[in-house]
Amino acid sequence: MTSKQVKPLAGAVSTASGAVRPVAGVRITGGLLHHWQHRNRTATIPHTIERLRAAGNLDNLRRLLQDDPAPYRGRYPFLDTDLYKTLEGLAYELGDGDPAGREFFDEVVTLLEQVQAPDGYLNSFFQDPSAAKKPWEDLTWGHELYNLGHLIQAAVAARRRMGDERLLRVAVRFADLVLERFRDRGICGHPEVEMALVELFRETGESRYLAMAAAFVDRRGTGQMEHRIFGGSYFQDHVPFRELPSVTGHAVRMAYLAAGAADVHLETGDPSLLAALERLWDDMVATKLYVTGGLGSRHSDEAIGDRYELPSERAYSETCAAIAVMQWAWRMFLGTGGAKYLDVFERVLYNAYAVGVSRDGRAFFYDNPLQRRPDHDQRSGAEPDGEPLRRAWFVCPCCPPNVVRWMAQLADHVAAERDGAVLIATYAQARIETAAMALAMDTAYPWDGDVRVTVERAPDEPYELVLRIPGWAGDAAITVNGEPFDAPVSGGWARLHRGWAPGDEVRLGLPMPVRAHGSHPHLDATRGSLSLARGPLVYCVEQHDSPQAAVDDLVVGVRDARGAGVERRDGAVVLRVEAEAAPAPPAELYPELDPGLDPGLLLGEALPGTRVTAAFVPYFLWGNRGPQAMRVWVRTPCTNGKKAT
Ligand SMILES: [Zn+2]
Repeated sequence: MTSKQVKPLAGAVSTASGAVRPVAGVRITGGLLHHWQHRNRTATIPHTIERLRAAGNLDNLRRLLQDDPAPYRGRYPFLDTDLYKTLEGLAYELGDGDPAGREFFDEVVTLLEQVQAPDGYLNSFFQDPSAAKKPWEDLTWGHELYNLGHLIQAAVAARRRMGDERLLRVAVRFADLVLERFRDRGICGHPEVEMALVELFRETGESRYLAMAAAFVDRRGTGQMEHRIFGGSYFQDHVPFRELPSVTGHAVRMAYLAAGAADVHLETGDPSLLAALERLWDDMVATKLYVTGGLGSRHSDEAIGDRYELPSERAYSETCAAIAVMQWAWRMFLGTGGAKYLDVFERVLYNAYAVGVSRDGRAFFYDNPLQRRPDHDQRSGAEPDGEPLRRAWFVCPCCPPNVVRWMAQLADHVAAERDGAVLIATYAQARIETAAMALAMDTAYPWDGDVRVTVERAPDEPYELVLRIPGWAGDAAITVNGEPFDAPVSGGWARLHRGWAPGDEVRLGLPMPVRAHGSHPHLDATRGSLSLARGPLVYCVEQHDSPQAAVDDLVVGVRDARGAGVERRDGAVVLRVEAEAAPAPPAELYPELDPGLDPGLLLGEALPGTRVTAAFVPYFLWGNRGPQAMRVWVRTPCTNGKKAT
């Protein structure tokens, strides 16, 4: 394979379901996503490499080359995956010609080649003869197949992006051992390997990897795993996958499993798998997803929680879960062509995912709450290292390297194609190249909804350019070469079918009014509150930007929200919102109710003349100016029978 032959992450080879194929030839050339990728390359990756070295992730491998290995460093048996995720991200960067990180990449790959056992086994925790557990002894918590999954994903990326086969050889040897060991029985406590094995099938054409991935999905819920510490639902192992009543258990496990099942569906076309995936997806979006796209409300077991169990200040919403939901969303889009999956993809991308990394790219959230109380005890987190807000690293550092690899592959999720059409999945300043067309896209999205697509190369025959119209956009305006174009719009797609010539220019105008969102009546935590959004961005208010009133005292009416001023500040669009300041009444915590009680007593009535102004910033930017109170959901007067104002 030549060094520049490039395939995208999902669905490159066959996609039996056949709805949509990914497009490999996309380059993000400017705008917010480009800024994120540049930051990833110049700040997050060097930071991550430094931290991996300091935390002992390389030493854990290196020690296995010694006669008397030093003790394993770190608490968990899956710390090799943080190397693998970083290698996966680096493969994208090095494939694009960036020399930074090359030394680290080669060093780790060489170590892995040296450390891999003669039978193909590879895990720096279990390979130590003095380790507390032996290989395969603890499938529930050993994460050995989870390790293999990340190894395969890094290896496939290295081959596709760099033409480097070394890691793939290591991964195939381990994968073949796993196929032998798990031929008849057994699953891993942490899904991940399913997606990876489907990718290995795509890369090698060996259908046994696809069959193994399908078997791992099918075996769940059939009594093949011992449940310890947590019950079967934590592992999505209490019922077979197709019978899961709802997304459940550990959020990252659930979404990785669903993404893996979606990959199996993409390659096998299994309709029962798709039916289950669609049902689970729709239920999740209707009842279990935060407004930011975050998944998972429980800290105790990093679990998703019940329907409508979505507390703001105790949101778990792990950064890794955000990545997993995007992986699932993208595969659902490929399998069905449904634009609704991309609406959620974007919601997660610009909110629950983007918030996980600091503005300078060197600090991270593990959990992503939607509210910070003014008296928040910042040491109450799982890892009380005393750092305020985002942290430079974690004892369980799964999230930072996951951010690294996902930032590096954003371009794979901009466009797709099917026979006779190219689809724009999300808008960014980018160059899109398919076999049929080359397009240059110019936009400041997500800051505004104006998009210009210039045709650089086109087929002789008429061809379809399909533009996604996000669910929030309402009526989009489309022109071709300055003339209004009446494109049929259905299912979230506008279809422009015509003959194209180089130089043709399509203009898309997506209206981006400020929106006010409420909550479902069963969503007790935020019922009667309001959140602001514009385009795909969810907004929040930090105390820094509300000098006249405590953020807990802000009362924002629907008209206040929709009439917010739109301003640019430090490269971002902020919303200037007029609100009322309504200090909470000096009531008891639980005042007794009677029919004559003035609802204002409970809500905190605004005093006359207490109009104040506060700036709302994109949620993903919060927490970059020091710890202060923050809210996504603010009080609104539209409760207790009072009308919205
Ligand atoms: Zn994580």
